[in-house]
Amino acid sequence: MDRNGLLEGCIVEDWALPEIDLALCDRCGVCVEQCPVGAVEMGDYGPFVARPDDCTYCATCDAICPQGAITCAFEIAWQSRD
Ligand code: SF4
Ligand code: SF4
Repeated sequence: MDRNGLLEGCIVEDWALPEIDLALCDRCGVCVEQCPVGAVEMGDYGPFVARPDDCTYCATCDAICPQGAITCAFEIAWQSRD
C-alpha cells in the first residue's frame, strides 16, 4: 500500500502516527511489547515509532500505556473517491 496513493478505491492522505509524550513516559516498555506490528522501539530517551511504515494506527499503544503518554489523536475515516 502507498500511504499517499490509492488503496482499492480509497485515497489515503495525511497519514498520522501516535504521539509519545516523553515527559509522561516512565519507560515501562509496554508499548514496545504490545504493538501488534512491532513498530515501536525503546531508544535512549524513550519509546519511538521506529518503523512508521508498519504502524497501522490501531491505537493499541494509546489504549494500553499506563501513563497516558501515547495519543492517537486522529480518527481514520474512509471516503469514497466519487
Ligand atoms: S507504555 Fe507508555 S509509559 Fe510505557 S514505555 Fe510506552 S509510552 Fe512510556
Ligand atoms: S498505533 Fe498500533 S501499530 Fe501504531 S505504534 Fe501504536 S500499537 Fe503500534
